[in-house]
Amino acid sequence: MKPARSNSGVSHRSCDRCGSPVLRQREGLPWVVVVDDVRHTPGQAAELTTPNRLAWCLRESKWTGARLVEVHTAFHNRECPRPHLVEHTCPPGTPLSAKPEGTLW
Ligand SMILES: [Zn+2]
Ligand SMILES: [Zn+2]
Repeated sequence: MKPARSNSGVSHRSCDRCGSPVLRQREGLPWVVVVDDVRHTPGQAAELTTPNRLAWCLRESKWTGARLVEVHTAFHNRECPRPHLVEHTCPPGTPLSAKPEGTLW
């Protein structure tokens, strides 16, 4: 059995390394996702993504709380009304000492 659900799979955090505001989601995903706490339109987010930096669609619901859904550009609604967020990357030069869980490298 799964543990009781929290009211939201998304938590607001600060990045352990650079201190930027980020959103973090673990639930329902194969790895922990950390995205910048900056809401973009789908078009803006698409310009910021790279093969190593994905965009996530923020779905907020009164009943299930917020969750992040991976954006597959080829399939995703171009007129999506929801905010899109992109994966957090620390600014160049951020020390690697306190590596947060959730980074892929
Ligand atoms: Zn979307
Ligand atoms: Zn960071």
